[in-house]
Amino acid sequence: MNTRANDGRAQGRHAVVLGGSLAGLLAARVLTDHFEEVTLIERDAYPDTSEARKGIPQANHVHGLLARGREILEELFPGVQEEMIAAGAPVVDIANEIAWFTPAGWGVRFPSDIMVLSFTRPLLDLHVRRRLAEHPRVKILDNTDVLRLLPGAESNQLAGVLICPRASENDRRVAKELRADLVVDTTGRASRAPHWLKDLGYEPPEEIVIDARLGYASRLYSIPENFDGDWQCAYVQAAPPDQKRGGILFKVEGNRWLVTLIGRAGEIPPSDEPGFLEFARSLRVSTIYDAIRSAEPITPIKTHRATQNRLRRYERAKQLPENFLLLGDSVCAFNPVYGQGMTTAALGAMTLQQCLREQDLSGLSRRFQKRLAKVIAAPWMLAIGEDYRYPETEGGSPSLMTRFMHRYMDRVVQLATNSVAVRTVLLRAFNMLVPPTALFQPRVLFRVLLQFFNSKRSCNEDSNRNDIRSGSLAGNQPAQKERLVC
Ligand SMILES: Cc1cc2nc3c(=O)[nH]c(=O)nc-3n(C[C@H](O)[C@H](O)[C@H](O)COP(=O)(O)OP(=O)(O)OC[C@H]3O[C@@H](n4cnc5c(N)ncnc54)[C@H](O)[C@@H]3O)c2cc1C
Repeated sequence: MNTRANDGRAQGRHAVVLGGSLAGLLAARVLTDHFEEVTLIERDAYPDTSEARKGIPQANHVHGLLARGREILEELFPGVQEEMIAAGAPVVDIANEIAWFTPAGWGVRFPSDIMVLSFTRPLLDLHVRRRLAEHPRVKILDNTDVLRLLPGAESNQLAGVLICPRASENDRRVAKELRADLVVDTTGRASRAPHWLKDLGYEPPEEIVIDARLGYASRLYSIPENFDGDWQCAYVQAAPPDQKRGGILFKVEGNRWLVTLIGRAGEIPPSDEPGFLEFARSLRVSTIYDAIRSAEPITPIKTHRATQNRLRRYERAKQLPENFLLLGDSVCAFNPVYGQGMTTAALGAMTLQQCLREQDLSGLSRRFQKRLAKVIAAPWMLAIGEDYRYPETEGGSPSLMTRFMHRYMDRVVQLATNSVAVRTVLLRAFNMLVPPTALFQPRVLFRVLLQFFNSKRSCNEDSNRNDIRSGSLAGNQPAQKERLVC
């Protein structure tokens, strides 16, 4: 099963991918470069149109694909973006065409080269799926459940998986074995892989869950003909620790707005019409409410609560079957508000590409999971670090380093309300085009330090003034308050 091509790439006969959402589609595409045959197994029956399906209920909610994810998508499926644009997905300049109300105020807007596509999630999946299905080495088995992993004759190897077509009610469901040289699990945050491994005698991975107790509520609207806003999308962020409500409005294909309202810890957006509107009205600024209050809703309100950060540490497992890999939400699912899931799944697929290009299949699992863990580390730290700004977040507490990062990032976000240079770096880091360390490059660090010393100086000056005032007006409350703000 384990051969090498003339150019040194790993080659195998048959690879099986479990779960056909975005991570599975991208992984399957990568595997076509290395295997004679790739089978993708998906529990749901795929629709022919861009409608949400049961297996990815999150598809009813805003899905922003970061610019790095967009690049990878295009690399794996050249021309797919053009197809989505032709289907109506708007191209959005993230710095100029998103009205973005950050915890520090409006992000400064300016023309940039950081472009993203704005779409409903089912549209993305439909286009990627169609492209994958055209590949001559790909076989898609939808409407089919994966039941468990099959042990191989050699220890530490899988023989394949046990699958079962989802028959109609009157038909008998007959399970069958599907043999494979490589098995890749992309069944998402509810992956059964830890149980499947346990059944075969492997230790399940250590699992970390950090729960910001977030809830989503979303619905689609027709864009009113007389709408004359100067933005394509709007994002009103929550402002920790007290302001727990936020909202996102994306212009998507079909000349529609997809509106997602987000709340945490007891401030979950409701699913009834008046409650939804009232929640929109209660955000820190009324931009989204003003847009939708007289717009025509075209879908019911859909809600979602499975939003915990969940990390399964397969890279630390004592043993894994050598020909079994996992990526996407199955390994690391994020609080979705930071928009990192799809791009991290895409980075996982590219990590697989690298591993398969460099070496043959022996020891692949360990090598891949270790490398993937490094890729996941930064988005994971960002997600949990931001969630720790809310004391209600369950599952751990912020380290000293995290607290320092909060203060540093507060200043960066503040500067990004009027500095094009800082906002450019911030947006590039947020879109994973540059590593988070870019936020410490001299042009940002210098401005942060300058702002820090200026605020210290004005704080001291205020403090001196306050001393004089409180000296002359003993117990003067406003003066004391000013000093506290410093
Ligand atoms: C509310 C919400 C909003 C989000 N917003 C964003 C966003 O703005 N930007 C972003 O990048 N990410 C976002 N995400 C994350 C994003 O949805 C996922 O990261 C992305 O779908 C990749 O996940 P995946 O393919 O690993 O798993 P999933 O999307 O969960 O897919 C798993 C697939 O496996 C199938 N499956 C499961 N079990 C079996 C089985 N036994 N047999 C066969 N098939 C099976 C399921 O039917 C499904 O198709 C959001 C997530 C949520 C919950």
